[in-house]
Parts: sequence; structure tokens; C-alpha cells
Amino acid sequence: MSKTTEAHAQLSFFESVNRNFDRAAVHTGLPKGLLAQIKACNAVYQVRFPVKIGNEYQVIEAYRVQHSHHRLPTKGGIRYSQKVNQDEVMALASLMTYKCAIVDVPFGGAKGGVKISPRSYTPAQLQKITRRYTTELIRKNFIGPGIDVPAPDYGTGAREMGWILDTYLTFKGGEIDAAGCVTGKPVNQNGIRGRTEATGRGVFYALREALSYKDDMDKLGLTTGMEGKRIAIQGLGNVGYHTGIICQEEGGALITCVAEYEGAIFNPKGLDIKALAKHRKETGSILDFPGAKNLTGRKDVLEIDCDVLIPAALENQIRVDNAPRVKAKIIAEAANGPITAAAEEILIEKGILIIPDMYCNAGGVTVSYFEWLKNLSHMRFGRMEKRFDQNTYHNLVALVERLTGKTIDNKERALLTKGADEIDLVRSGLEETMVTSYNEIRKVYKRKKAVQDLRTAAFINALGKIGSDYLALGIFP
Ligand code: GLU
Repeated sequence: MSKTTEAHAQLSFFESVNRNFDRAAVHTGLPKGLLAQIKACNAVYQVRFPVKIGNEYQVIEAYRVQHSHHRLPTKGGIRYSQKVNQDEVMALASLMTYKCAIVDVPFGGAKGGVKISPRSYTPAQLQKITRRYTTELIRKNFIGPGIDVPAPDYGTGAREMGWILDTYLTFKGGEIDAAGCVTGKPVNQNGIRGRTEATGRGVFYALREALSYKDDMDKLGLTTGMEGKRIAIQGLGNVGYHTGIICQEEGGALITCVAEYEGAIFNPKGLDIKALAKHRKETGSILDFPGAKNLTGRKDVLEIDCDVLIPAALENQIRVDNAPRVKAKIIAEAANGPITAAAEEILIEKGILIIPDMYCNAGGVTVSYFEWLKNLSHMRFGRMEKRFDQNTYHNLVALVERLTGKTIDNKERALLTKGADEIDLVRSGLEETMVTSYNEIRKVYKRKKAVQDLRTAAFINALGKIGSDYLALGIFP
């Protein structure tokens, strides 16, 4: 290990993100003061509040960090985990700023965290904690459709977002756009179709795009296309689960290895992710899945022989101690910060292609943006044009039949005359976003000789966009 790699191994999560920032900043030509302003967390709110659990009061530690106010509202998920701390929330909030810029979601970055292990509480207790946390955010003006808009993250989901909305409405029921104060809500509570699968689907589009370039794949010794590629996934939560299913069903990939808390399993012929999730629900574990072999440690997934490794759990998973043993040719970062800055130096040296988190997992915030737009417009996507489009397509099909004298069969007719539903439009918008953004990043990567990796290219792209926002304000010379 080189001296610098050794020094970088000591960095905290936030320092690790900033180390990646610095690597890119030198290529941007932006003024020093402006770079310092972009890098800093603009507002950090740390709060402790009491909640009565059973017969005793517990003091809960929680955070909301708004990293950048260059665009408003700020945006980012809320994490429930025993490991939450200020450094982590600051790192995650800053990643949100860069993520939003990369996928052209016009928000600043933010993140929230509540230091609890959700498994230790009943749903009623979790509801109490969530409502109290939301009240604290309202009190300090840290939530609102034009201020700061939370969403799900590790340990939270649609249920918690529904509680947040309901609490917000209790205080601010008269606000016409109140439903846009949080995203990732249940569909019947002002949510949007396709939000739950969005991060996983985004990872699929990102990976499919990366795999489509012959010159890049030649360098890795891989063929193009997802069909038959061996994928290992760490974490079968919402992101890992949907990524696995979509890569399998729509991409034809083989998910050969999956890891969770309880261990890891392997099957070179591929694991059926839907059946595996069912097995875990029934038995409480992914282990002993029919046809698969149990591996000795859950971290084995990171070192397994595969084409693509998808860390979809937490940060700091690939570190200097295990990075030299990673065998994957591509790492698609579905989680935030799964590779430390020091480990990345080792992986780049090994020639591994890393699809960076701030682009790879941006599908979630992209569809959150669509949900927020839906809330502000007070109308479902597709409602105005679906029937009009259908009628136009029907007329076109009738014209083709008349001119050719042939009849189009019912299956083809249904396909050709379908008007888009909300889910079709959400998926289309997400695919467009992920494909366009990959090409923007890849262009920087190809154009700049000194840039060796997609993360630095993604940072350069993000800093250019955020920098031009600030420069337009005329604050920096
Ligand atoms: N928590 C997700 C993320 O890290 C989603 C954020 C959002 O939708 O605002 O990107």
C-alpha cells in the first residue's frame, strides 16, 4: 500500500467524499472560494428529543443536514440506523447535492438520520418517533415543499413517509402544496407509481448503459450486453431486491451470489430473486435456499468471482483490507459510499470500472422529483393526454389498414395504440435521465486524459453545474 493510500485509509466518511471532491476540483478551473462554498455543509441540525417507549422515556438522537442551498428545496432521504452519526449524515447530504446535479434534479442536497435500530421497536413506537422527529423539523423550518423535502433511505420506507406527511398536515394543513413536503409516500397518499422500484431500476439502466460500450468492455475483457453476466449483490433490501429482479427479468443477467445480515449464498446457475425473497420471508434467512450453496462469511460476496458486484447495503464495505481481493470487473454502487477513498485507489489500479453512487443510485431521487412535480401539479401524469394519444394511434392504425388492405392483429393493435399510464411515463423519464447522465459523465471521462475513473468525471460534471449556478448569482468573481 502506498503512503498516500495508507493516509487515506484513516479518513471519515465525510472526509472520504471530500477527498473524491478534491481529486475532481483541480480539473474544474473554478475559483478556490467557490469550491470551498460548494464543499461545505450549509446547515446542520442536531436534536435530541424524548419519546415514551413502554413505561420509560428514551432520548433519541437525530439529525437533518442541508448541504447546499444553491437550489431549493433541498432533498434527501431519512435514515433509521443505530450507526447514524453527524459525520455520516453530512457525507450523505453532500452526496445528495452532487447526485441531484448529475441527473439534473433542480434541488440542493440534504439528509436526515435518526439513531435507532428500527428492528427494536413496534410499528406504533416507530410511528411515535417519526411523528416527533417531523415535529422537530417543522419547529426549526427544516421541512416543507419549497424548503427541504425528505424521502426514504436505509431503514425507512413509504409507511414512514406517510406518517411524515400526516404530521406535516396536522400543522400546515392549509398549505396548498403540502403534499410535496416529502416524497416516497404510499401511492394512495399522494405518492407516485414506480417510486419503490426507482433506485433499483435506475441501477439497472446505469449498468445496462455501461455494458453497452464495446471499447470500455474490451478493456475489461467482457462482452457487451447484460445477458448472461454474473452479478453478485450485497444486500437484499429495497434497492438490492429490485436491482436483482430487474437485471434478471429485463436484462437476462445471472444473479449468482447474494448476501444479507445472516450470511451469503451462491449458485453459478443463478438465484431466482423473487423465490429467494419468499424463502427469506418464510424462514427468516436467505441461507439454505434450494439449489444454492451457503458461503462461510457474509462479506464473501465482495470477493466472489463475478462480472459485476453490486454493493446495495451501507457505506465503507470495500476498504483497503479487502479491496485487493475484489474479483469483479465492474462495481455498480447501488449503496451510498460503499467504497472508501483509499480502497478506490487500489480498485482503479486493478482496472475495475466503478459506476459511482452519486450517479448509479440516483434513480430514487429522480422519481422523487417526479413525485414532487405531481404533488405541485395536483394531477396524475398521463391524465390529460392518455385518451387523446390512444385515439390518434387508433386513427393511424386504421389508416395503415385502409392503405395496405391488411388487418393488424389484436395483440399488435393493443401495443401500437396504448396511451401512456403514469408508470410508463415514470419509467420513460427515469430511463432517459439515467442514459443521458451516463453519457455526460462518460464524455468527461473520455475527453480528459488525466481522469482515470467515472467518479472523478461525475464530480467534474456536478461541480460544473453547481458552480455555474453560483457564478450566475455573481457572488464569486
Ligand atoms: N435516499 C435516497 C438517496 O440516497 C433517495 C433520496 C430522495 O428521493 O430524496 O438517493
